[in-house]
Amino acid sequence: MAVSSVSEEELNEQRFFIQRVRAVTHLFGHTPLAFTHSYGCQQNVSDGEKIDGMLAEMGFGFTDSPENADLVLYNTCAVRENAENRVFGNVGALKHYKEKNPEMVIAVCGCMVQQEHIAERMKQRFPFVDLIFGTHVQHRFPELLYGIYEKGRRIVCTPESDGVVAEGLPVRRSEKFRASVPIMYGCNNFCTFCVVPKVRGRERSREPAEVIAEVRGLVESGYKEILLLGQNVNSYGKDKGMNFPELLRQLDGFDGEYLIEFMTSHPKDCSHELIDVIADSRHISHHLHLPVQSGSDRILKLMNRHYDTAKYLELVDYAKSRIPDIQLTTDIIVGFPGETREDFLMTLELMKRVKYDSAYTFIYSRREGTKAAEMEDPVSGEEKGKWFRELLDVQGSLGEKAYERYVGSTLRVLCTGRGRTDEKLLTGRSRQNIIVDFAGGDELIGQFADIRIVKALPWALVGEPEG
Ligand code: SAH
Ligand code: SF4
Repeated sequence: MAVSSVSEEELNEQRFFIQRVRAVTHLFGHTPLAFTHSYGCQQNVSDGEKIDGMLAEMGFGFTDSPENADLVLYNTCAVRENAENRVFGNVGALKHYKEKNPEMVIAVCGCMVQQEHIAERMKQRFPFVDLIFGTHVQHRFPELLYGIYEKGRRIVCTPESDGVVAEGLPVRRSEKFRASVPIMYGCNNFCTFCVVPKVRGRERSREPAEVIAEVRGLVESGYKEILLLGQNVNSYGKDKGMNFPELLRQLDGFDGEYLIEFMTSHPKDCSHELIDVIADSRHISHHLHLPVQSGSDRILKLMNRHYDTAKYLELVDYAKSRIPDIQLTTDIIVGFPGETREDFLMTLELMKRVKYDSAYTFIYSRREGTKAAEMEDPVSGEEKGKWFRELLDVQGSLGEKAYERYVGSTLRVLCTGRGRTDEKLLTGRSRQNIIVDFAGGDELIGQFADIRIVKALPWALVGEPEG
């Protein structure tokens, strides 16, 4: 198996199926409606935008309620068991809609069903699901959907593959000012707890010229925030004669005011060069999401993370010295197989040392087919739950004060709309990727403004426009 690009011919074939589906749905006598939902990470959300793009070209409109839809599609996540359980629950709940409307097409795609045992379970448990397709055939969605309409029987398509890169698919972007741009797909790191390399195939970078042209186009058409996506953006371009800092340097060079963010940055490949590029840039976000996973070197080794806490802390210190206003966030796993109380306490120590602005914390979830799934895991779920709550408490008290260091400073903020909790306030994001709420008129929406920060909340800043 090898990673390959989807050829222009193959894409043309899909364009042909797009027209065929259009011809079918035209006969419905109404605009067909799709309800789609993507679970999990930003990469999955970005995949969902391509699926929506294909649906729009196939003549579909969109609805927020599955009940009225002609097509319901769940794009799933496999990273933890609770994500999978939620999908099983939500798909199960579609049964009575399908009974009321037997013409409804139900599709489940993405990482979860790329695992053979899950695809099998989905097939057995939910005979009313019409279409199941994996991550490597996402670009063939029009052909698969046409198959359902034409043959009227269920299709399951989850071939194994090292992965493909498909350029030129239509995209229906879900946000007005922010656009996600995948720069690479898959992962080669094989962290022992993680199912991603299994379900998303080998690491493959998009051509630098494609990425640069896409970002330039988005900036020119008025997008103000571009989020670059990859499981390990720091290893971007190894096979393309380009490295990630150099890509960032190039993306920093367009005219106009805009922000570039990226995730995820793996500590093993994070370099001083990257931090220098951010520090010296005009447009790159002063936010580094640097998942540490554990503060114990023994556990990091068992996780196959390829860095130790000394290297990690050196990076953090360098980032703080070069970019004093940086926002630092992380991911942490509690209860990895064989983790002891001592290992766990080292994680707490590291958190206190780094003083993260926020941390995404997870209890270890056993994933079939990973190395960690074979390891001894003697600590009880109850004990892990206790540690998890301790971790939340520590991060809670750190996070509560973390943003106070911004009070009194003036931040450049992209205003994205009215506040979610307070309609009277505008809300936006600062260069550090922090939510900032402030008073102002609708004319500021979509614009950058200088905001003087007057108050810090644990999850946001409150400010006043300058001048
Ligand atoms: N590529 C990114 C992470 C992608 S998965 C990176 O390496 O940083 C997002 C996060 O989910 C991980 O950072 C990890 O903290 C968590 N995660 C992944 N697999 C998990 C598992 N089996 N159990 C619990 N958390 C997990
Ligand atoms: Fe999973 Fe590790 Fe790859 Fe991240 S780097 S996607 S945690 S295997």
